[in-house]
Amino acid sequence: MRLILIGPPGAGKGTQCQRLVELLRVPHLSTGEMLRAEVRSATTAGREAARFMDQGQLVPDPIIVGMVSRRLQAPDCRGGCLLDGFPRTLHQAETLDDLLERRAMSVDGVIELAVPRDELVRRMLARGREDDDPEIFAKRISSFEVQTAPLLDYYGRQGKLASIDGLGTADEIFERVRAAVRRFDRTLRGR
Ligand code: AMP
Repeated sequence: MRLILIGPPGAGKGTQCQRLVELLRVPHLSTGEMLRAEVRSATTAGREAARFMDQGQLVPDPIIVGMVSRRLQAPDCRGGCLLDGFPRTLHQAETLDDLLERRAMSVDGVIELAVPRDELVRRMLARGREDDDPEIFAKRISSFEVQTAPLLDYYGRQGKLASIDGLGTADEIFERVRAAVRRFDRTLRGR
């Protein structure tokens, strides 16, 4: 199953992704993680990406799309994958559709973790991570609202979206995620 998890920064995507990859037994493709690895290795792409990441801005598509496209071609992704942090713009979503279509594949389902903005800010302040500069965090939330939220419509129109309440304990939220996966599974088998 090829699944996308979408949610604003601080929505708890990381925790749910960990559980989802165990459930689905597919590789976890996190563009944020891939970029942080590039930054740590000080590659050309990493140095370029860091300038944007430090400002809470999106990294330009040529870097992202190349990275994801290479990863999707790896043999372990043949049976499916969990995409986390990608796509983040309508253009990236269309590019992903093209990439998959060329391999006779498609996105099977999209799960949105919905969390109100004031709750995201409250969580960010509570965890106090050093990369959680309040100003940069606000920029990342705005980037989500302006650039990523339109994807929800895009996938909703295709009947592929499950919007899930992201409030509650990790266990409660995962139950909702699991229910959404079961629905996608039934649709897949009915195709
Ligand atoms: P994340 O860990 O998913 O929150 O990503 C951390 C940072 O990496 C983001 O704030 C962006 O600067 C960058 N990034 C991750 N994924 C993408 C993407 N699909 N497109 C552009 N920038 C991205």
